[in-house]
Amino acid sequence: MTDLNWPFLGGAALEIESASGVHLTTRDGRRILDAAGGAIVVNIGHGRRRVADRIAEAALTCSYVVPPWVTPSRRAMVEALEANWLDAAFTRLHFTSGGSEAVEAAMKLALQYHAARGHGSRNQILSRAVSYHGTTVATTAVSGHAARRRGLEHGLPRPPTIPTPDALRCPLGANHPDAGAYYAGAVREGIVEAGPENVAAFLAEPITGASGGAIVPPADYWPRVSEICREFGVLLILDEVMTGFGRTGTNFAYQQWEILPDILIAGKGLAGGYAPLGGVFATEPVGAAIGAAGLQVMFHTFAAHPTACAAAAEVLDILVEEQLVARADRMGTMLLERLQDAFREHPHVSDVRGRGLLQAIEIVSDRATLTPFPMEAQITRRVVDAALERGVFFYAGGTGEMRDIICLGPPFVIEERHVDEMVSVLRQSVDAVTR
Ligand code: PLP
Repeated sequence: MTDLNWPFLGGAALEIESASGVHLTTRDGRRILDAAGGAIVVNIGHGRRRVADRIAEAALTCSYVVPPWVTPSRRAMVEALEANWLDAAFTRLHFTSGGSEAVEAAMKLALQYHAARGHGSRNQILSRAVSYHGTTVATTAVSGHAARRRGLEHGLPRPPTIPTPDALRCPLGANHPDAGAYYAGAVREGIVEAGPENVAAFLAEPITGASGGAIVPPADYWPRVSEICREFGVLLILDEVMTGFGRTGTNFAYQQWEILPDILIAGKGLAGGYAPLGGVFATEPVGAAIGAAGLQVMFHTFAAHPTACAAAAEVLDILVEEQLVARADRMGTMLLERLQDAFREHPHVSDVRGRGLLQAIEIVSDRATLTPFPMEAQITRRVVDAALERGVFFYAGGTGEMRDIICLGPPFVIEERHVDEMVSVLRQSVDAVTR
C-alpha cells in the first residue's frame, strides 16, 4: 500500500484535518497547540481568509507566466517588501520556491559575482560547524548538520569547521566576555587557512535556527565578522530563512547589529506558510557586476509563482497592520522569562535561549559537565512525542552531534495563556522523559 507518511522521519506522523489560529486539529478530532508554527514558518496564524482570497484572485487573474515577468501579485509583493521590510541597499530581488533553493541561488550569485570581476579562484563558500542551510546537495554540503549529511558524506566535501558561537562551550570559559572576539577570530582563521583569494563568501544564520537551537551570538560577533569579510573581499551572505520577517522580534535578525549583508536570504515567514516561497535579496554592487558581465541568473520554473507572491503580499500587509513583529518581540520576551523560570533549577536543562519567538531549551544528562544523553536515548524525539500526547507540538532541533534541543517558534498571534500552556507542557514532557 502507498506509504502516506513518506518521507518518514521517525516519531509520530499525524494526519491534520484543519488548522486555525494557533491550533491544529487532527483527523480524529484532537486539538494541538502549534508551538512550532509548523517548521517555524507560520507567523500570522493559520487559516486567514484574507490570504486565501488573495491567492484565489491571483490564480484567476494570472495563473502563471515565465518567472522574470511581472504580475500584479508580484508587483504588490515587491512594493510591500520595499515599503516596509528591505533596506534600500537591496536592489536585486530574486525569488525561489523555498529556502534551500534561495540559499543555493545566493551561493551561485556569490560565485558569479567573483567570476564577473575576474576572480574565478574565489570558489569556496565558507560556513559554520553547527548550521542548516538546506537539503539540496550544495546546501547540504555547506550545512554543519551531521544527521542530514548521513549517507551522503561520500558525495560531499568535508563538513564546515568554523565554530558556531556557543556561549556555554566557549573554550575561553562559559559566557566569557571575549567570546565574540574568539569566535570572530575563528572566521578570520577559516578565511586565512583557505586563502582569501579562494573564498567567495561566508554564509551563516545571524541567529542560529533549529540546528543549534536559537543561538544568539555575543554582541560584538557580527560587527567583527562583517569587518573581517570586508577586509578580505569575502561576501557576507546571511541566511534568514528561519529568522526573517519578524521571527526574532525585528524585521530581520541582522538588524540587531550594525551590519548589512551583501546577500540576504529569506523563506519560511515571507509567505507565512500559505505558499512555498523563498527570496534572495542582493545589494546593487553584486547585481551590477553580474549584469555587466552578461552572466545569466537562471530561474526555477515556479519561482515567484503568482499565487505565492499573492500570499506573501497579503501576509506582509497583515504583519504590518497588526504590528506583529513588535508582538513577536513582546511575546518572545514573556516566553523566554517563563521558560527561564520553569527550567532555571532543572537538573537536565543546561540552557534556555533565543530571541523573539525563536526560543529553545537544551537537555543534557549532566548539567555541570554539559554531557549529553546517549544518542540511542532519543531524548529529543521522546520529548516531542510526550508533548504531542499532551496537546502541544514542539520542533525537534540539533544536528545529531549537537543534540537534545527543543525549539519553540509559535505564530506571532499567540496569547499569554498559550505561552503558559507551552511552558507547562514542555516542563511536564522533559520531566517525564528524563525522570
Ligand atoms: N536555511 C535555514 C536557516 C533553514 O532553517 C532552512 C529550513 O529549515 C533552510 C535554509 C531550508 O529551507 P527549505 O526547507 O524551505 O528548503
